Amino acid sequence: MKRGVKKIGSAGLLLSLALSLAALAPTSAARQRAASVDERTLAQAEAYTGDRFDYFTETPRGAHVAALRRPRAEMLRAIDDGLAELFRVARRNGYGARLNHSDYTVFIGRADRTRNRDGQYSPDVAIGAAQYRGSVYDQGGYVYAAGIVSSFSPCAFVIAEHESDWARVSNVVRYEGEHLVLYHNDRRRYQQTYDHSRGGSHPILQ
Ligand SMILES: [Zn+2]
Repeated sequence: MKRGVKKIGSAGLLLSLALSLAALAPTSAARQRAASVDERTLAQAEAYTGDRFDYFTETPRGAHVAALRRPRAEMLRAIDDGLAELFRVARRNGYGARLNHSDYTVFIGRADRTRNRDGQYSPDVAIGAAQYRGSVYDQGGYVYAAGIVSSFSPCAFVIAEHESDWARVSNVVRYEGEHLVLYHNDRRRYQQTYDHSRGGSHPILQ
């Protein structure tokens, strides 16, 4: 259901996304870049970020990765570790669907900022504010997020490039993955937690 819905989706945002995807469609035939990431999933992530993903690889444990350039080995290991922790907690909650590394595609996008308001290293991506407008998250029409779900099936999300703080990468991966695990295993809980403007924060699963 609802392909293209993302965690802070709104009617206006979805409409603009649909327009962006329509604009991308004519060129997609010429962009056979990676068998591991299908064109629609790629187009969605590129529409969210404005990035163009040209480098495709897999983590040691088989998660699919699309990036702007070759990711560091530490980055790939951090993604694996975040997913492994997510799956461990998911199993503890009795969930069984989409708990393989190969079920996930991680897009490593350009960081729209590298430090948060407190000056701490915090590579984040900027996304349209939607219903976060006017909230504490609102930075003036957009919000900074550590990650964003870009596709539910296949499971895909975007995180920002990091130069260090691999533990943060693992946490971001685990947290974005929570939305996808809940979507596929517990739709009610997914609905209750997908929109952080109405409360709820990570980790959702304990
Ligand atoms: Zn979230």
